[in-house]
Amino acid sequence: MKLSLVVPCYNEQDNVQEFYHCTKACFKGHIDDYEIVFVNDGSADKTLEKLKTLVEYDEPNLQIISFSRNFGKESAIYAGLARSKGERVCIIDADLQQRPEVVLEMMKIMDSKPETDCVCAYQEKRKESGLMSFTKSMFYKIINKLSEVDFVNGASDFRLMNRTMVNTILSMTEYHRFSKGIFGWIGFNTEYIPYEVAQRKHGETKWSPGKLFKYAMGGIIAFSTAPLKFVTFIGFLSAFLAVAYMIFVIIQKLCFGIAVPGFATITVLILLMGGLILFCLGIIGEYLAKMYVQLKSRPIYIEREHLENKHTDNEK
Ligand code: UDP
Ligand code: MG
Repeated sequence: MKLSLVVPCYNEQDNVQEFYHCTKACFKGHIDDYEIVFVNDGSADKTLEKLKTLVEYDEPNLQIISFSRNFGKESAIYAGLARSKGERVCIIDADLQQRPEVVLEMMKIMDSKPETDCVCAYQEKRKESGLMSFTKSMFYKIINKLSEVDFVNGASDFRLMNRTMVNTILSMTEYHRFSKGIFGWIGFNTEYIPYEVAQRKHGETKWSPGKLFKYAMGGIIAFSTAPLKFVTFIGFLSAFLAVAYMIFVIIQKLCFGIAVPGFATITVLILLMGGLILFCLGIIGEYLAKMYVQLKSRPIYIEREHLENKHTDNEK
């Protein structure tokens, strides 16, 4: 099989069938040896029923994986990659914001440049509010400073990869997955092409600002130990300031005979140090918590159902 499309779906009841037919129409005459792997990430709406209808109508090139609950997009991507059979695999959203035409463009680039392992589409212009766009750009600046891994601003999960790269990603079985970091960490020759995000067809985005913030923090913890070094730095800094202040107080007392009013200074210092210690403990705790969950070695996702139509377009 030439190509697998991995499509994570969470509450996409109005999009999945349209996505399937739209992709099929777009690929007609260009690629016929492909499959679409839908991953139903514990949707609470009729997404699974809509997907099953496609199987009932005996639509070709189809796999459906259904999770036992919502595990998140990262887990859905992992499950889709694990089930995919294509020599090349493309991760694409179900809401048609990422057009299947771009996949054809990616295929052409890979055909013409055999040394390319991955073609990644990035948004040249973000179609979001100014504040959101600014916050995301800041996140990329910060994480690139803190981590040794390269993060490309605007690059999404929308990418076509060869089998070697897919297998490498599958070999990384970490529980807290941050694909943007994993793609950068494993390396491989990646070509970046600009693309324009289309309007979401139906439904709404699953990423609230709170969820995005948590995701961003998870990414920093997964790909950088800089926050831990920051804790050490704070420790050094406060010890240095304490010694400097002590010398200052001794000089005041011995040379100028000034009695230092103790109570207010001590209260402020205790509060400040208490706050700093708790803050640093919190940072260490974040890493410990991630280690704790990882140590339990729980599966990244749980499949409840797996359906497949084995025949391709030309066999039907
Ligand atoms: N998604 C998922 N699990 C989740 C959240 C999202 O599988 O917990 C899927 C969603 O159905 C869509 C893709 O991930 O196909 C991207 O989500 P969304 O369109 O909400 O993100 P946005 O495009 O707004 O960044
Ligand atoms: Mg979307």
